[in-house]
Amino acid sequence: MPERDTPSPARLVLATHNAGKLRELRALLRDAVPGLDVDTQVIDAGAAGVPDVVESGTTFEENALLKARAVAEATGLPAVADDSGLAVDVLGGAPGIFSARWAGRHGDDSANLQLLLSQLADIPIQKRAAQFVCAAALALPGGTDVVKRGELQGVLLEKPRGEGGFGYDPVLQPDGMERSCAELAPEEKNAISHRAKAFSALLPSIVEILN
Ligand code: IMP
Repeated sequence: MPERDTPSPARLVLATHNAGKLRELRALLRDAVPGLDVDTQVIDAGAAGVPDVVESGTTFEENALLKARAVAEATGLPAVADDSGLAVDVLGGAPGIFSARWAGRHGDDSANLQLLLSQLADIPIQKRAAQFVCAAALALPGGTDVVKRGELQGVLLEKPRGEGGFGYDPVLQPDGMERSCAELAPEEKNAISHRAKAFSALLPSIVEILN
């Protein structure tokens, strides 16, 4: 059969420069789509040559959609993006979309965590409910968007515990557990995480476009 008659396999761009997120989504998709070649069909924004998108939205959902739509338009391919953070009840949902730069500098995990702990210094443990939140979005070049949300409920500890994970993991203890997220093995956290829940909810829409 001439090469031009062979349909090329469907491809998807993951709108992130984060290797960890790319690895997680590829693993989810490998299990969900038999025969999928994740290494060639699921590419990242860096490989697709798309620069970072300004996160000017005011909700996790808006930011995830902004990123997915920008990448879908730049590449002409379906794109998936996420936005995540920590929402503390007594702070009215803050740091929220500002989680990565709560102490002023983007990505300074230790300063962000220390500032948050000092803000909550007088709040007793029974009033320290908090959750990790993730919005995962799929945008198609034609203009269709889907966005799903996942949450991991817990309590904000008074002191950091554990060496694993990243960001606010050492201070979030999931409900029903006696360890912080930083004390969980990666596969334990992945099984309950806000990101896994949001991506699992989005998975049927992704599978549909890859099949
Ligand atoms: P982004 O979605 O990569 O922009 O992440 C935003 C910020 O939220 C991160 O820099 C972390 O501070 C925080 N965050 C999001 N997810 C997690 C998590 O699973 N553990 C710890 N911190 C998280």
